Amino acid sequence: MSLVNGKRQADWFADEASAEADGPYAGIVFNRPIDQIFSYRVPARLEAVVCPGQRVRVPLGRGNKPAVGYCVRIDAEAPSGMDPSRVKEVIDVLDDPPLINRAMLELTRWMAGYYACSWGQALDAVVPAGVKNQAGTRVGTFLTVPDEIRKSLETLQLPPKQAEALAVLCRSDEPLTIADLCRLAKCATGPITALRQRGYVQTVRRRHSKDAFDAASVASDLDSDAKPIPTLTDEQTAVMAAMTPALEGDEFATFLIHGVTGSGKTEVYLSAIERVMARGREAIVLVPEISLTPQTIRRFRRRFGKIAVLHSHLSDAERHRHWRSIAAGEVQVIVGARSAVFAPARRLGLIVIDEEHESTFKQETTPRYHARDVAVKRAQLERIPILLGSATPALETWRNAELGRYLRLPMMARVGARPMPKVELIDLSHERLALGGLSEPLRQAMIAALKDDGQVMLLLNRRGFHTFVICPNPRCNQVLKCDACDVALTYHKGRRLLICHTCDAERPRPPACPSCQAPNLHYGGIGTERLEREVETAFPDYVSRRMDSDTMRMPGSHEQVLSAFRSGEIRILLGTQMIAKGLDFPNVTLVGVVNADTALHMPDFRAAERTFQLVAQVAGRTGRGDRPGRVLVQTFAPDHYAIDCASRHDYEGFVACELPERQRFGMPPFGRLVRLIGRGPDEAMVRTFMNELLEALKAAAPPGVTMHGPAPTPIAKIRNLYRYHLRLRSESPRPLQALLQAVAPKISPPGEVELAIDVDPVNLL
Ligand code: ADP
Ligand code: ZN
Repeated sequence: MSLVNGKRQADWFADEASAEADGPYAGIVFNRPIDQIFSYRVPARLEAVVCPGQRVRVPLGRGNKPAVGYCVRIDAEAPSGMDPSRVKEVIDVLDDPPLINRAMLELTRWMAGYYACSWGQALDAVVPAGVKNQAGTRVGTFLTVPDEIRKSLETLQLPPKQAEALAVLCRSDEPLTIADLCRLAKCATGPITALRQRGYVQTVRRRHSKDAFDAASVASDLDSDAKPIPTLTDEQTAVMAAMTPALEGDEFATFLIHGVTGSGKTEVYLSAIERVMARGREAIVLVPEISLTPQTIRRFRRRFGKIAVLHSHLSDAERHRHWRSIAAGEVQVIVGARSAVFAPARRLGLIVIDEEHESTFKQETTPRYHARDVAVKRAQLERIPILLGSATPALETWRNAELGRYLRLPMMARVGARPMPKVELIDLSHERLALGGLSEPLRQAMIAALKDDGQVMLLLNRRGFHTFVICPNPRCNQVLKCDACDVALTYHKGRRLLICHTCDAERPRPPACPSCQAPNLHYGGIGTERLEREVETAFPDYVSRRMDSDTMRMPGSHEQVLSAFRSGEIRILLGTQMIAKGLDFPNVTLVGVVNADTALHMPDFRAAERTFQLVAQVAGRTGRGDRPGRVLVQTFAPDHYAIDCASRHDYEGFVACELPERQRFGMPPFGRLVRLIGRGPDEAMVRTFMNELLEALKAAAPPGVTMHGPAPTPIAKIRNLYRYHLRLRSESPRPLQALLQAVAPKISPPGEVELAIDVDPVNLL
């Protein structure tokens, strides 16, 4: 985000004066990094039309180029201090009715203040592109038949061609243009012109959907294997009872459903949604993108029939259709990833966030919002309850529960008194991994599980075949890096390429070290591709399949593999965290974590938390059916509290070790962080700018704000842009917000340098 200084903002107004200067004024904001509301006069012809929440076209800047902005308020008089004779006029209104309702206007204004972006940028993030460009619709001249003609159709005396055309038009469910009708009635335009002259047919200019409503994505699921609704367990009943006053009473309350995997959290969400639906209200369910599997969707569809599913693979037209039908109140249940938090439900009664600890709820481009925190704010503004569910709540959420802001509702037993799976740690420092990734104990456990007709899941959170390539010359020993990024390249054997996982750049394998020309580069590290090869060699009699973003490129491939695994055709499923989340396969009796340490040594204060979550989540993938499950975790750090606690399913034990560490360093949840990232093609320029930024911040900093840096980010270069960051910390968010609001308008990064402001950062690389 680059910020514009005060002088340039003034240029956005015209120099020339417009004639009349009274009448209502519209406050307009733009999707630009300028935190200001601009006033425009509403001309008489638009007075009855313009209202807050619409997009409008207005002249902008010296050249008066038409620009699209969002109307956020209407004032009767010109704002004080403004010369009415210099105000420009609104040109026209793009949305009628408005796209944004009052609650969303308020929510986006809060976002702008909290996440240090402009109101216009926040608004722009709320409205999907497909809605802005009205994807999937067309404006045309459509034919209509007046009601009285329709009623007396049989009595009309008409030439055959005209009679036929009129009959076809009356029968059509879809709006027809003249060209459509010529085609369908197999006639020329003559008969239609004649019908219009007689007044039997009229024309209107309208916007219409191009095709019929997408039956597939909203249709009710008439699955034959529909299950009866289960009777709630005692724990589930207790949780529902605790939430009932809020569910039935228009009350803001945040509930944390802290339940182990398989404790029946999803069943509680379904019951809670039913309660608010019965009152004619709508529910939004946020899940991580990765959990938007057919399995999750089927479960919601079976229960509620018509639901809207908002995932990242929708076309603009589909997104637009969903938005319209949600805004029209045609769908009561909306299930989606991060941005579904903005779904334009009119009578929202409940928000549910499953796996609330997931980092994918954080958006990594401006506005850098966290969907969980935005959802809590939305619930507060709309005075409704919100349920956060997780087996491993984020420590921020846990702390909010400790402080009494959220009500924690524990669900500590699995449904049907199924035991939690037994987790065994395999200390890799004592194992010889001659074959590759699988230790002998893990191989033996796989043999046993497969012989016993069970299924196996293997998790390895690294794609590719070899995870690094290194020069064997001891005086060089360089790791091959991407040309554009400060990142080691991964070798993908199937494609015979070295690939950068940060920018996706590909290059052929060099015959020798690019730096010292030593031949015979050494390839090391194990990715999922190599693990797949190892499994195929070790278990040739069983079907195995790899699931990662390389093998799951085709639409539908995810679903295909999962259903083959469900049917038992695939016996071994291996992959990245894609397989760790939200899946429920009763016949999985063994889960192997090939390397639990991949996240442990990251330069990130959440490294331990991520490791704990990952191991605990995969461990929950087994023992969900009638057969007990077993989990084997390979690690070099079996004594680390994150791995030790995860192996004992001991969330509170983990928290007891981790929170004091966070408190000691003032890290979240005990302090607030803001990360300022400067990037640009010229490293010296970025560094100088960040140093100046530090000085500006220091001069304005209230007490209690500490600053670290500027320093190169852990990944110092991405896509040929050098990156430096400055970290601001304070005990509460207020002083940081005040500081950013005071300094941000004065910052103007030079040349090609860009500045991003990340409030409550999740990614620290
Ligand atoms: P979670 O979301 O906590 O992992 P689920 O809601 O998916 O748990 O429940 C785990 C399994 O138990 C599912 O197969 C679900 O259908 C089943 N289940 C949940 N609640 C009940 C209940 N009250 N009676 C019987 N089975 C239940
Ligand atoms: Zn790269």
